[in-house]
Amino acid sequence: MKLWFPYKQMKNMEVLLSVKNAQGAVLHMENGTALIDGISSWWAVIHGYNHPDINAALISQINQVSHVMLGGLSHQPAAQLADTLVRITPQGLNHVFFSDSGSIGVEVALKMALQYFKNEGYTGKTIIVSLKNGYHGDTFKAMEVSDDSDFTNAFDDVLHRGYFVNIPTGGYNATDTEIETAVVEVEALFKQDAATIACFILEPVIQCAGGMNIYSPLYLQHVRRLCDEYNILLIFDEVATGFGRTGKLFAAEHAGISPDIMIMGKAMTAGYIGHAATLASTKVFNSFLGDTYEKALMHGPTFMGNPLACTVALQSIKIIEEQNYLAKIANIEHVISEQFKTIQSDFIQEKRVLGAIGVIEMKDAQSLAGFNKFCQEEGVWLRPIGNILYLMPPYIISDKQLLTLLKVIKDWIDKLA
Ligand SMILES: *Cc1c(COP(=O)(O)O)cnc(C)c1O
Repeated sequence: MKLWFPYKQMKNMEVLLSVKNAQGAVLHMENGTALIDGISSWWAVIHGYNHPDINAALISQINQVSHVMLGGLSHQPAAQLADTLVRITPQGLNHVFFSDSGSIGVEVALKMALQYFKNEGYTGKTIIVSLKNGYHGDTFKAMEVSDDSDFTNAFDDVLHRGYFVNIPTGGYNATDTEIETAVVEVEALFKQDAATIACFILEPVIQCAGGMNIYSPLYLQHVRRLCDEYNILLIFDEVATGFGRTGKLFAAEHAGISPDIMIMGKAMTAGYIGHAATLASTKVFNSFLGDTYEKALMHGPTFMGNPLACTVALQSIKIIEEQNYLAKIANIEHVISEQFKTIQSDFIQEKRVLGAIGVIEMKDAQSLAGFNKFCQEEGVWLRPIGNILYLMPPYIISDKQLLTLLKVIKDWIDKLA
């Protein structure tokens, strides 16, 4: 096979269905079948496929200019998107650096944090703290701050890992004791190593690719306080959680706090074109000011701020704001929660729901062997990660389509024995 697929053992690979076109929440295959998409093409396609308003905005921008370098030139779509992102994100994130994917957005965030301390005259503040079971992308520094897993195993010998701490147990509504246990671990680490720790990067409220683990936003308030106390920068990776997925526009809002640096990607461009943004506080931005290049951020992806990507993002945010998407997301949360009550089995470890995310953690990955094929036969597209079966549908999904997805999940689980 000439085409090399991601996260795939290519030996004896099965023939994959090929998508011909897509409309709304439905993928249409070359073979004439159709699948309801339950996972928004890696969580990005929030408005569904082939959205008329986004298509129109994109075509109009293509007829103006499709791409121009942001090195030495500027353009309206990038400037407007920067303004808009500053407006809609938590207070204090006032500066926007664009890049072409979530992983690169993470690299930029880590560069900002590490160079911040260098620019401020510190030596030795070079270590990064992250959460166990986190996932921050597939490039090298992003792998280093992601927990070891199938994603990183092949590179264990070359990764220089920092420190990893546990998320609090107990889910969204954890008890004070559960939160306290996790906070004590962070505080002990900071107390001991503040001189060498530069930053703490985490996925706020839910860790996605690392197992769809939901944790208390109150933990984030404590982490914010400890980062301030020990002069450590706090980085939120909202590549998966941003743009409404958790029921708030950004997951940081659950905690009512602002990180020093925040990354967004995936849903930012609604699944049309890969792009990401790394936002920084004025404190971080100002440390890069100086009379020479020495203090400047020497990073610049070729396609950063691509006008088509920025146009899609602007149109997407306009739709989210004008069409009351948070209500749509609340409805998805309600439908999933109600239907999950009817799905019961000894094979289930735990069911979790947050915003437009529904998770069924099975006790054993074996319970999901053949599930993806079953879904295709039943006309839906779902793709578990190990023992984690999850739904992250496009926000425009109809109740009927959502109920079909949930029925297929229930049918599969009911026939396990
Ligand atoms: C997907 C993801 C990334 C990586 O984004 P890419 O666009 O695939 O490089 C980083 N962080 C989180 C939380 C993600 O979910």
